[in-house]
Amino acid sequence: MKTFYIETFGCQMNAHDSEKVIGTLLQKGYTQVEAPERAELILYNTCSIRDKAEQKVFSRLQQFKKQAGKGKLFGVLGCVAQQEGERIFERAPHVSLVAGSASYTKLPEMLVQLEAGDRRVTGLSLDTNETFDTPFTRRDNPHRAYITIIEGCDKACAYCVVPFTRGPERSRTSESVMREAKSLAELGYTEIQLLGQNVNSYRDPSPAGWDFARLMAETGTVPGIRRVRFTTSHPRDFVKSIVDAIDENPVLCNHVHLPVQSGSSRVLSRMQRLYSRDEYMRRIEWIKGARRDIAITTDIIVGFPGETAADLEETARLIDEVEYDSMFIFKYSKRPNTPALEYEDQIPEEEKTARLMMLQERQRAIQLRRNGRYVGATEEVHVEGFNVATGQWIGRTAQNKTLNFHDSTVPGPRDGMTLVGQYVDVLVTRSGPNSLAGVHTGSH
Ligand code: SAM
Ligand code: SF4
Repeated sequence: MKTFYIETFGCQMNAHDSEKVIGTLLQKGYTQVEAPERAELILYNTCSIRDKAEQKVFSRLQQFKKQAGKGKLFGVLGCVAQQEGERIFERAPHVSLVAGSASYTKLPEMLVQLEAGDRRVTGLSLDTNETFDTPFTRRDNPHRAYITIIEGCDKACAYCVVPFTRGPERSRTSESVMREAKSLAELGYTEIQLLGQNVNSYRDPSPAGWDFARLMAETGTVPGIRRVRFTTSHPRDFVKSIVDAIDENPVLCNHVHLPVQSGSSRVLSRMQRLYSRDEYMRRIEWIKGARRDIAITTDIIVGFPGETAADLEETARLIDEVEYDSMFIFKYSKRPNTPALEYEDQIPEEEKTARLMMLQERQRAIQLRRNGRYVGATEEVHVEGFNVATGQWIGRTAQNKTLNFHDSTVPGPRDGMTLVGQYVDVLVTRSGPNSLAGVHTGSH
């Protein structure tokens, strides 16, 4: 019996890659265990988007180093593997496998090498036009499923490692995406999430030639699928037809994650983001002009080299203007191989923290106000779980807002009764900056 343990760091792409890696290992006769102590093969699927994420994996490897003598094998997968390559063997000699995501199609062969006693197995080539499609995905969630439609990135943002760690941009054929969507619906999944670093840069490589709006609209017609989400959209490739598709089909969730990074055109240009503040705001106008109320969320980087107080103020003003439903704010982190690493006007860490806190406070007030609009409204929720501590069911609205609620008929999961996976109508009675709360008023 061969056993493995896997820990995943980072984004949804990584979470989904792990589902595919797990499926591949199970198919090869491995058994997954929930504790590293019980595993023969310990895998870390890593993230290197910021320095902190990268350091985490090295501290994990250090933590379990002593176990290496007990016959355990260690593998580093994902972005840190691709970025650091064979240097990982020097830094952590107990590691036997180093493979980036562009090499996962070769995972079965790499496992054979490991089993044959090879202690320096690598998968580091980025020279690929393949996507990692496997029928053996072991999905974590029985109701919501990820579908990768595009891998890699051909943009070159000055701060970002992704083009170096995930390789060139490559789209799957629309036919294989549709096949996966249909088979998920047949398995009982009702919600799918289309994934890609830049999902809307999708270009069907088959003669059908679908663009992203068409692909998204078609997945929304698959019988049994009640919700289609997608993330992340790059502003440069965000076209009006995406908004039109959302307007036309209620199955397509009314939520767009559109990372702006900065509100200053000067900073955007230094970041090599390929759009100006005005061009970004035009896209926001399309979204706000839709018939449906579309939630908008974003990513922001503070403390990018050379960001002045005036640039920061422009970002703050953009936040006020757009009124985002939520956002992730990150402190700029220096990454290897990227152009911004060499920029001289780096911002001190304490200053980055102060900028982050200033924007967070501003956004908190906006979220409080925006979420307050839902009190008294009835929202459809896809139920995801139950919080024993609060006695509330946890679900998400189509706009991706967390809504916790009480149900007098099914007060909790017991005697085989559960609301998880169901779509229920919830009357919103309270709101906070990060979530809504309410009571169940009836099922669909
Ligand atoms: N492709 C998406 C886009 O361009 O909008 C973003 C994908 S990236 C994995 C997720 C987020 O990480 C980015 O939107 C950015 O805000 C953040 N990020 C990337 N590199 C960073 C860095 N060096 N320091 C801080 N944040 C970073
Ligand atoms: Fe990174 Fe820019 Fe590509 Fe997004 S578009 S993954 S931020 S390089």
